[in-house]
Amino acid sequence: MTKIGVIRCEKNERKCPLTGCITSLTQQAQGFASYDQTQLTGVFTCRGDMDDVANMAKILKAKGAEAIHLPTCLFANKSDGVWIMEGGGFCDRMETLTDRINEAGLPCVKGTAHLPEGYVPEV
Ligand code: SF4
Repeated sequence: MTKIGVIRCEKNERKCPLTGCITSLTQQAQGFASYDQTQLTGVFTCRGDMDDVANMAKILKAKGAEAIHLPTCLFANKSDGVWIMEGGGFCDRMETLTDRINEAGLPCVKGTAHLPEGYVPEV
């Protein structure tokens, strides 16, 4: 059983209730396909403050999370009904985001649901 935290983006928090993310996590699909069993530890919303994100990662770790996944919409976008990497997503600081989460002592995986074709998240 792998316990997983999710840190989403405020730009999408009023538009998407994480339906795809949670479905994929519960079914070990898409960004979670490499796990045998999964459990959602909790969800935080990034509001652009990277110190805040580091703190969120520490809290998720303290609550038992063993990895943090970043939603696919942070780095990909939907074009003509298809999710693609070109043009990016809601976050333009993905590297800093993942670095700060790693510094908190947790692996950070980019990807949850509806992965763009050919994209394989590194776990
Ligand atoms: S990755 Fe998809 S399901 Fe998850 S928050 Fe973004 S738009 Fe919603």
